[in-house]
Amino acid sequence: MADATSRIAAEINFDRQGRQSGYLRAPLSRNTSGWGIVEIPIVVVKNGSGPTILFTGGIHGDEYEGPIALSELARTLDPDKVQGRVIIMPAVNIPAVLNDTRLSPVDNRDMNRCFPGNPKGTFSEMLAHYLDAVILPMVDVSVDLHTAGHSGDSIPSTNMHHVADPAGMARTLAAAEAFGAPYNVVFGGVDEGATLTSSVERRGILSLGTELGGWGRVNIEGVRIARRGVRRIMAHLGITGDMPSDSDPKTRHMQVGDRAHYAFSPYAGTFEPCNLVGQTVRAGDPAGFLHFVEDVDRDPIEVTYKRDGILWMSAGPGRVARGDTVAVVMNDYSAKEE
Ligand code: CA
Repeated sequence: MADATSRIAAEINFDRQGRQSGYLRAPLSRNTSGWGIVEIPIVVVKNGSGPTILFTGGIHGDEYEGPIALSELARTLDPDKVQGRVIIMPAVNIPAVLNDTRLSPVDNRDMNRCFPGNPKGTFSEMLAHYLDAVILPMVDVSVDLHTAGHSGDSIPSTNMHHVADPAGMARTLAAAEAFGAPYNVVFGGVDEGATLTSSVERRGILSLGTELGGWGRVNIEGVRIARRGVRRIMAHLGITGDMPSDSDPKTRHMQVGDRAHYAFSPYAGTFEPCNLVGQTVRAGDPAGFLHFVEDVDRDPIEVTYKRDGILWMSAGPGRVARGDTVAVVMNDYSAKEE
């Protein structure tokens, strides 16, 4: 078993009252700097007594709405208005954020497939281990802000897994409603065992994620929902005072069922999508057409939806590889199907 001691040093004291801003210092030996470090921004605000909430953004480096909203929260949250502790990490995977890529340029890993991590593993594994072993034991609620990055687009939404304990399920659904995205998606995912969410859930911590846009650009509505949502969920948990009264967002609970709700590209090609996220789609209708522009006589292939529903995610890049997800369809949430 790996040594459980993290190699990452925090210059802040998580138990101190008040606001602290600074960096986690992660060692990164490189050709030009044997004792080099990578600085990961962190703000901790602690006051009185109450739950600890963790906000993370930038686990994937090409997702912008979370880091924008969380940097703002980190700069502006008034410690006197807090009861409990707020840990804000707007750009967790800072090498990937600065590189504008999903994967870390340090080790070419998707950090959100490295949990629970390893303190002596690759850089991404070391970061994942720090979150899992050092941060999460302090945390009651985790809100991890994502988008679909360059790999797709998503209708702004929160998301969560099915929680086995009915009380935990109800608590998570209520937290999603408080966050107030137009949709909340209950789903199992395609490859979820090594995500931050899986680590959070293994520890019995309330876990909420988001998908607030994608396509390699900043989604205006996604930023607005993130800004509002992080404030609203703190109020919901009693960490800050009254719920902001400037809006009363309604959240529609959705779910993604079996694998037939995902459409995968059968070949490499140029993918022409037929729908925008949020649109209603029908089984048998085209999700898009795969074009082979390099092949003068070859007709395009139709990629069809296999389920009725609302389009949660669509393809991002024009060029897709065989096996890429080009559509994810969601349906209204039904507790009976759990
Ligand atoms: Ca993501």
